[in-house]
Amino acid sequence: MKTMLIAGNWKMNTNIDETEILTSQIIDGITNNLDPNVDVLICPPSINLSSASKLIKDTRLRLGAQNCHYEQKGAYTGETSISMLTSLGCSHVILGHSERRSYFGETNQFINLKVKAAVQSNLFAILCIGETKDERDNNKTWEVLESQLFSCLIGIDGNLLEKVVIAYEPVWAIGTGLTATNDQIQEAHARIKNYISEIKGIPGRTVPVLYGGSLNEKNALEILSIQDVNGGLIGGASLTSNSFLSIINSAQRVIN
Ligand code: PEP
Repeated sequence: MKTMLIAGNWKMNTNIDETEILTSQIIDGITNNLDPNVDVLICPPSINLSSASKLIKDTRLRLGAQNCHYEQKGAYTGETSISMLTSLGCSHVILGHSERRSYFGETNQFINLKVKAAVQSNLFAILCIGETKDERDNNKTWEVLESQLFSCLIGIDGNLLEKVVIAYEPVWAIGTGLTATNDQIQEAHARIKNYISEIKGIPGRTVPVLYGGSLNEKNALEILSIQDVNGGLIGGASLTSNSFLSIINSAQRVIN
């Protein structure tokens, strides 16, 4: 039985009022209406996690952050620790997003420290990987994905792997309206799953892989139906309740 995670990455959008309105609309849309095999996650800006946290209490909506630091506390101005996130009820944290890699210079080595710290604290790490247009055009897609997976997952073995979710996000598809083809998605997802099982010595057990990159209400049913897709990481289309709820609805149709 396939399970699905539909995750909204709100990025640097939504002030406090908008956070509360959007969170409430999503809660209303899923209450009494969510398949047990579908999980829904919102990742608002960290400054608004606290208000979203109050609203999601006793609902099936899950809360996540868009980033964290790997140290537990200390002199890291502007950063957010994992215990700050877990104390707000966060279950997930997005790490290694291509925007953090390209705008903030995050390396695989730095991301690895965060993934390790997150999963050791029982937080699900949504590790984002993906190739640029240039890399795809030069047949370097797998080389890039392999290197990101290898480096970001160093030291994460055994039970810790149960807390890892991979988001395959071709960089050229993020926020562009372009999506990878069904064949490109299936090929990448299957290879990612096989590679992790192989390098981590967990034959027969797979890590869930989400697709991200211009997933919206129009293409969700088709993309989520692809065999090795276990959900989606959604940017733009997670910012309005109608489109996000419609994607959740597509996930439920796939499950059923
Ligand atoms: C993302 O930022 O993770 C993302 C997939 O964005 P969008 O859905 O807007 O392409």
